[in-house]
Amino acid sequence: MNDCFGVDATELKKKKLWLFDMDGTIGEEEILYSGSLKLLNWIADNGGRYVFITNNSSKSVEDYVLKVNNWGIKADRNNFFTSAQATILWLKKNMPNAKVYCQGTRSFLNELVMENIDITTEVEPVDVVLVGFDMELTTSKVRNTCEILSTQDVMYIATNPDWACPVKFGFIPDCGAICEMIKRATGKWPIFIGKPEATMVDIVKDKLGYEVNEICVVGDRLYTDIATGMNAGVSTVCVLTGEASIHEILEGNIKPTYTFASVMDIYNCCL
Ligand SMILES: [Mg+2]
Repeated sequence: MNDCFGVDATELKKKKLWLFDMDGTIGEEEILYSGSLKLLNWIADNGGRYVFITNNSSKSVEDYVLKVNNWGIKADRNNFFTSAQATILWLKKNMPNAKVYCQGTRSFLNELVMENIDITTEVEPVDVVLVGFDMELTTSKVRNTCEILSTQDVMYIATNPDWACPVKFGFIPDCGAICEMIKRATGKWPIFIGKPEATMVDIVKDKLGYEVNEICVVGDRLYTDIATGMNAGVSTVCVLTGEASIHEILEGNIKPTYTFASVMDIYNCCL
């Protein structure tokens, strides 16, 4: 079967490791898109694996497991790799024992504490400023972040560069937009850890033992999901249920291997 542009996508049937974005790809907020469950079950029934690689650092892996289980999706901790987990690995490798000021949700802060990262949310001497996607953001948190960035020489990192997060009425500012707000005030810009870095794919690939030609990345954003697949050298599938539009795919430099209207159409292609 062909994709939206008439490209033959039958090779997708042979993929063994499917790496799915979540928001805007399989669902948004509390809604699971039609076809998601069918596609995931088809993958499992045909000897494949699915892992959700998400840039959304506002929820912990435990939160995500609960969320997708409630949707009827069979998954445990091993079915997830989040930008929060990637950030924790980055901190442990590059700045072990660092004192980290974190602007993020309670769930993200808990995840850092569970991994023995030394964190604070107060203005005090630190080594790292870490910003995550935060739906509990307050002006006092932003003020603290700006004060540290303006008065201390610190490493500045953020979980993900996404501009907007899809919600039921449209979009709200994601981590990239929050960082842009801070940049307008302080002039400081972070290093981003999550997608489009190839590490988001490489870590899962190596952990589960698959070859690049057995893997595909499915997502709704060109500059994160599709770019991370391209950077890792795997096939990419863009769905049009989230941020990317046909126009953006035609006009831009980031070209997915395949494009479908939704996950339902990927499922129909695999039958
Ligand atoms: Mg998305």
